[in-house]
Order: sequence, then structure tokens, then C-alpha cells
Amino acid sequence: MKAMTWHGGAHFTLDDVPDPDPTPGFVVVKVDTTGICGTDVHITQGLFPQEPPKILGHEGSGTIVAVGEGVSSERIGQRVVMNHTSHCYECWTCQNWNVSRCEVADASTNGFYAEYVALDSRAALELPEDLDIETAALTEPASCCLSGVEMLDIPYRATGLVIGAGIMGLFTAAFLKSHGVETLVVSEPVTVRREMAKQFGADILHDPNDIPLSEVIADITDQGKGFDVTAEAVGKPELVATCINSTKPRGQTLMIGVCPEGSPLPVDLYDMHFREIKLVGAFGRGNVFHRVPTELTKLNLKNVISGRYPLTDLPEAITASAEGLGVKFAIKPND
Ligand SMILES: [Zn+2]
Ligand SMILES: [Zn+2]
Repeated sequence: MKAMTWHGGAHFTLDDVPDPDPTPGFVVVKVDTTGICGTDVHITQGLFPQEPPKILGHEGSGTIVAVGEGVSSERIGQRVVMNHTSHCYECWTCQNWNVSRCEVADASTNGFYAEYVALDSRAALELPEDLDIETAALTEPASCCLSGVEMLDIPYRATGLVIGAGIMGLFTAAFLKSHGVETLVVSEPVTVRREMAKQFGADILHDPNDIPLSEVIADITDQGKGFDVTAEAVGKPELVATCINSTKPRGQTLMIGVCPEGSPLPVDLYDMHFREIKLVGAFGRGNVFHRVPTELTKLNLKNVISGRYPLTDLPEAITASAEGLGVKFAIKPND
């Protein structure tokens, strides 16, 4: 089969590699769609630690074409969304924290920028009938956002702010709305992304190049004290700081975007302490992945996938994603 191997930086090769075998407990999936993630962009820019050579891609859906010993042959033909890492449900991390950080899961599982992939049968989740296979590839990013939003305490008639309307900001917006935020502002400089926030439930769209956020805070929030909840969905420390500074006393800020490793937080810690701000980190799919395919069927995801590329065009797709030319780009490894 064909697979794209990452060799560090922005260097990829298209390789012929052996077809994966279904070992005991595993299934082989023919990949339909793999989403380009901001993390992939960060990896190629050296901002997210990864060791080459490696097949990347962790947001994938497809159809089971073979099963290993111990897996029911009835699963052949099943449409599935894939977890990039399996989890044991038994280690300290699985039991106390977040199954996506499982201590014993095999982190060396190949990624989904390939025609086929073998994975633990428990990591291939059957789709609900009313979810199409391409949309299902959005499960992983949506899981990160749902997991993060569920870590917040959202008060009655809450006001909220999301900075960034890439796919993570959009899903965060949708889940903040479905979890009780009454008035939601989405701030985003890129017009196509900002406009798309409407279909994810944003009440007010803010263009930071147009008017300062402070004017929106003065207009929208109770006595101009700031939002009940704010979420940064870009991955820039200065925007996390903007969120914290836009949060009301005793409000909460959620970090959805992945900031570069080692980055400090440029805020006045005295102010954060004084105003009793709660800062919440959210990394990975949390413990909600299995609930998300059904959540996706409730959202209007029209035109969210801005571009589809064959496997060979992965570098171009990553570049398009890095340039923010759309919302979500997808690789179709078997097209
Ligand atoms: Zn991702
Ligand atoms: Zn575990």
C-alpha cells in the first residue's frame, strides 16, 4: 500500500510499504478520510515534539476490511472512526485522568496518512447510521473541544468568548452553546472562518482588525466586567493572555489551542490572582470520544471541509492548513 512518511521539518516521501496484517485483537481499516490537524502543522514547523521517520495523521475514518483473531468477522464492512492510540482503562492515567494519555497504550501505532491502517479493534468505533464517513473524521478534534468544555462550570445565562474560529474554535463554540452559554462572541480575523462561526451558534462575530475587544466586553458583559468563560483556540500565548484579561472576576479561561512547548504565559499574575481567574488546560480527546459521533450529527457541518487532497498532496494540504486558507482540510488516501 501507499503511505506518506514524515522525515522531519516539512519533508515527506510517498512510500510503498507492506499492507498491514490483522494481528490478534486488531482490525485493518481502509482509510476514507484523514483530517489535517493544527498539530500536524506544528509538527512540520518543529513546534510540537515528534520523532521522525513516522506516518502522521490522527483524525481518521474508514471501513474495516479485515479482522484478526478474537475479533468478530461481523465487523468486516463496518464504518468506523479511529482513535489514534488505544487505551487500557486500567493504568493510573486511564482511571484517574484521561484515556488519551494512557501509560501503556502503544504510541507507535501508524498514523492515518496511508491507504490502510491496522489498529486495536477497541480503537475503531462504529459510526451511528446517520453520520457520514467523511464527517466522522472530525470526531477527534471535536472530542478535544467537548472534553475541554465539560471541564468548565458554566453559570446560568453565561456570556462566553472564543478566540479563533478554526475547527477547534468552531467546535468549542458549538459545545459552549449546547452547555449553556447564552451569549457567545467569536473573535477571528479571517472572514470565511468568522462567518462560519454563525452556523456553530455564535451570537456575535468579532473581527479583531475592526474594533478592539474591549468595546465588545463593555457592550456585552454585565457592567463590562468580562465574560463568564473564555476559550483560546489558536495556540498563541498572547491570545491566552487576552482571554484571561477578558474574563470576569472568578471566571474561567479554557486553553484549547496548543501553545509551543516551553512558552511562558504573558499575563500579570498579580491581576490573575487578585481577580481569582481559573485557568483550565485541555489536551487531547479526553474521555468523551465515544460520545462525539452522535454529537456531530446534531451540528450543521456544511462546508466545514474546505478542501480534499489525494495522499500525494499531503505537503500542499498542510501548507494550505498552515496558511489558514479554510477551516478543515482532508486527505482522501484511497482516491
Ligand atoms: Zn487533531
Ligand atoms: Zn491506560
